[in-house]
Amino acid sequence: MNILILGSGGREHALAWAVMQNPKCDKLIVAPGNGGIAQIATCASLDIEDPTAVATFAYDNAIDFVIVGPEAPLAAGIADRLREEGILVFGPSAEAAKLEASKRFTKEICAAAGAPTAGYASFTEAEPARAYVREQGAPIVIKADGLAAGKGVIVAMDEATALEAIDDMFGGAFGGAGAEVVIEEFMTGEEASFFVLCDGETVLPIGTAQDHKRVGEGDTGPNTGGMGAYSPAPIMTDEVTQKALDEIVTPCVAEMARRGTPYQGVLYVGLMIENGQPRLVEYNVRFGDPECQVLMLRLGAQALDLLHAAAEARLAETRVNWADDHAMTIVLAANGYPGAYEKGSVIGGLEDLPETAFEMCFHAGTQRKDGRFLASGGRVLNATARGATLQEARDRAYALADAVDWPQGFFRRDIGWRAL
Ligand code: ATP
Repeated sequence: MNILILGSGGREHALAWAVMQNPKCDKLIVAPGNGGIAQIATCASLDIEDPTAVATFAYDNAIDFVIVGPEAPLAAGIADRLREEGILVFGPSAEAAKLEASKRFTKEICAAAGAPTAGYASFTEAEPARAYVREQGAPIVIKADGLAAGKGVIVAMDEATALEAIDDMFGGAFGGAGAEVVIEEFMTGEEASFFVLCDGETVLPIGTAQDHKRVGEGDTGPNTGGMGAYSPAPIMTDEVTQKALDEIVTPCVAEMARRGTPYQGVLYVGLMIENGQPRLVEYNVRFGDPECQVLMLRLGAQALDLLHAAAEARLAETRVNWADDHAMTIVLAANGYPGAYEKGSVIGGLEDLPETAFEMCFHAGTQRKDGRFLASGGRVLNATARGATLQEARDRAYALADAVDWPQGFFRRDIGWRAL
């Protein structure tokens, strides 16, 4: 099978690594890819949000199967176009991708499906939104309806912050994404991420994870794209997982099918769990980054068979082969991230790192130039390992991170603290 993966982060390196473990893969191209991906696959420059460009590229390169990493190409209708052209693709249609691209849409699906989530109201004008906040009081959560790269959510602990957020959003701080604002009840509990594959009808769980959003140890400092993750998430007991499936995911997927817009791809289910009861925080229509890295290391070669089965609507007859293991990934980021940081510093020691089924240093933002790896982003490397216990996975992941010679980078020393 000739495979094309769209994306350029650590998530896509992990997907590429898993795909390459599977003998069914004859040829792998990743567009645009990165310095680490270039070591295992062909990288191609391509505008991955342009449906015509992607469809033409897939056709010209005799691609049999396209795996879409990030959400933006999905929201742009890449999967719809590939399906129209008869090319097999893993990822939802633009209409189904609204589960991530519109928070109000997700709330409506939850309401129709009876799925537990925070109470809400949505607004297209500031004044009624302000009145609603005054009536409800704080804490309260203000969200731009559309895609805002994880920055469009303000958890307001007081009313003044909430009112300011409303003014910012209607004032255009998030462009079109903030033209509509969703205001939600503040939920308490512990968060976890639950990943399922869907083929339009059948839902197949492929693992749980917990990430670390804040840049600093002890979960302090500004929000980031994620500084580390581990899988499985201990809070996702069998009972909580079953509840999340029965009360949230399965009814929502059925509602999407009922509307004639079946969901196919991976569904990232962000949950808030309190007293054993999960409630939906958000859906994402793609793998999390860095959660994907721990899931791929745990799944290995079967990941390709699973994604392929989802795309071909064969999940009802598909099983996941679980090893009873744990995995952790540590994000190495450029000094200064998530604020201003420098690009172009040299990263040493990468060639000498072990690359096995138990430990892989995935690249998120690197470039290969004159035989050296250069940092080219904020989040740069993902030291990822698995083991029989979380402690073993953690020891291996930190040994990998410590072996990287990169004075211009840093990482958190406390990933997994909650679980350990
Ligand atoms: P991302 O994709 O980066 O996770 P997002 O912009 O899609 O973020 P959400 O996941 O909806 O936004 O919210 C971001 C974070 O804000 C959540 O992970 C959670 O910690 C917090 N949050 C969101 N909604 C609520 C809520 N109703 N109650 C309490 N906390 C919330």
